[in-house]
Amino acid sequence: LSRQKRPLFGAIDLGGTKLLSVIATPDGEILARDRRPSQTQEGLEAILARMAGSLDSAAEEAGVQPSQLGAVGVASAGAINFDRGIVSEAPQLPGWQDVPLRDLLQEQLQLPVLLDNDANAAGFGELTFGAGRGSRHLIYLTISTGIGGGIIIDGQLYRGKSGAAAELGHIVIDMGGPVCPCGARGCLEAIASGTAMVWRAQEALEQGRSPLLAQLAAEEPLTAELIARAARQGDEACTEIYRVAAFALGNALASYVSIFDPNAIVLGGGIMNSSELIFEPARRTMEGMVRRLPLQGLRVLKGELGDESGVLGMVALLRRDRTFGG
Ligand SMILES: [Zn+2]
Repeated sequence: LSRQKRPLFGAIDLGGTKLLSVIATPDGEILARDRRPSQTQEGLEAILARMAGSLDSAAEEAGVQPSQLGAVGVASAGAINFDRGIVSEAPQLPGWQDVPLRDLLQEQLQLPVLLDNDANAAGFGELTFGAGRGSRHLIYLTISTGIGGGIIIDGQLYRGKSGAAAELGHIVIDMGGPVCPCGARGCLEAIASGTAMVWRAQEALEQGRSPLLAQLAAEEPLTAELIARAARQGDEACTEIYRVAAFALGNALASYVSIFDPNAIVLGGGIMNSSELIFEPARRTMEGMVRRLPLQGLRVLKGELGDESGVLGMVALLRRDRTFGG
């Protein structure tokens, strides 16, 4: 019996600010990476060329010709129509509406392309290669400047009828609360995202409630990470900002658990760098709210794959699909 050689895959994560390309084996071993800014303001043509250039440079580092790749998976920001390979809308990609990204890239790369939403892909990556390995039902949440989600039911991504499912950051936590970028009020994203925490911190600074943060913010940009540093040094306003965010997150997690009764919840994104301020208290809040049965055997985990969860998720999706030779 001769064993057929399995092809390598390319994968690209297209975000609002960053572009990551990798060459990987079907088992999720990354052989080469290329990171560069996505420069989305330059428009579609430039982004397509940039994605191709990034993939080429990863391929060169891995010592393969791009034409030898079995397929390329693309994890993109925005609402994705999976079946048609279209980016329907994407606030992170200015001017993008109904962009047939899959077909455009297939043309550009002369390779089969699979396109999915970045948070969906990240959730599938954690399920296949990361913290959620072995889970049948998994809820994935990524918290950074925004909040994205992925829902996996019976080992399959749930994408909804239009590809807009799993917007777990837009569950309303506080009716009449702060206005969210989506236009609604009191979404989890408007309370617990890094951006929302920075808004609260700016208010605290204007009101003179955080002398320590004022000192720190004079030297470097005001971010969720900086707020965390001030909180760790005992700043009360910053501690309160994290307390409120963690409580909101805990409430959201309790809702997800009540709806989905998952085996695992995996949390990723930049905010996990301050996990003792948000992950642990949110988990305790959730555990105090949820009924006994869904809590039994539920694992609440930090993501293991970092910013490579999206590309690894696309590798996992390609591998599972026989049309791509996985
Ligand atoms: Zn919202």
